[in-house]
Amino acid sequence: MSLAPVALVTGSSRGIGRAIALELAGAGYDVAVHCARDEAKARGVASEVAARGRRAAVYRADLGSRADRERLVEGVRRELGRIDLLVNNAATTSSGRADLLEAAEEGFDEVIAVNLKGPHFLTQAVARWMIELRKAHPERPMSIINISSMSEYTPSVNRGDYCIAKAGLGMVTRLWASRLAEHGIRVNEVRPGIIATDMTAPVKDVYDRRIAEGLTPIRRWGAPEDVARAVRALASSDFDFSTAIAIDVDGGFHLHRL
Ligand code: NAP
Repeated sequence: MSLAPVALVTGSSRGIGRAIALELAGAGYDVAVHCARDEAKARGVASEVAARGRRAAVYRADLGSRADRERLVEGVRRELGRIDLLVNNAATTSSGRADLLEAAEEGFDEVIAVNLKGPHFLTQAVARWMIELRKAHPERPMSIINISSMSEYTPSVNRGDYCIAKAGLGMVTRLWASRLAEHGIRVNEVRPGIIATDMTAPVKDVYDRRIAEGLTPIRRWGAPEDVARAVRALASSDFDFSTAIAIDVDGGFHLHRL
């Protein structure tokens, strides 16, 4: 069995997750590439990982489903044999961007299941496995990184479900950081701002204008690679003494200005 570290990156068939998978492959990780539906795209990312000289395996799972999460972890165990880094990146967007006064419960349930319950319970399953692995190899660094959002602390009244899920994910980071520190497993967070992916493509014109007007001190869109580099750095031993921290990759959006 290879001694290379293994990373499971959820939602790595495209967008930010794909960039994270490739950045980690470049840093020497074998990668479990995951998608919800688009296996062809996920296989394409796996080929890009392989082109960097690393092993890759592809998994399809709805993270809102317990059975799918269990199959995902079992698949990684069987095919890649270990796990050193979990990146909870996958998320679904708020369907229809309905105003708070109109938004339906069904949409809420779906967003909470995928964006909050999914990463929480996937972390539980992976953490149990990491604790076992750490007993055999206490010297191997292990960590979990949640991709939250500026929506964790910024209300958008046309996607309340998404904001509530991201706010909850901040507590998921703090809870698991508290629980896993004694086992030498760090849990941290990266908070992207406005990043050019499929998720933001439908609102591109609005954000083009608002960024040009100065919404973010650094006046450009973020690239998926901006987020990926932060994940690679946070996972590295350079951050050995940090847990429950959040890195904003947002062009300074979080800065209050007068
Ligand atoms: P994206 O381009 O829409 O990609 C979403 C990924 O998540 C895809 O791989 C998709 O798989 C997967 N996914 C969707 N629904 C799923 C489900 N039910 N179960 C499992 N996987 C599912 O998104 P992105 O913009 O790269 O965003 C990545 C992360 O960054 C998300 O957590 C997002 O909230 C966060 N974020 C993004 C921005 C931004 O501006 N883009 C800003 C802040 C935070 P398929 O390809 O199979 O559909």
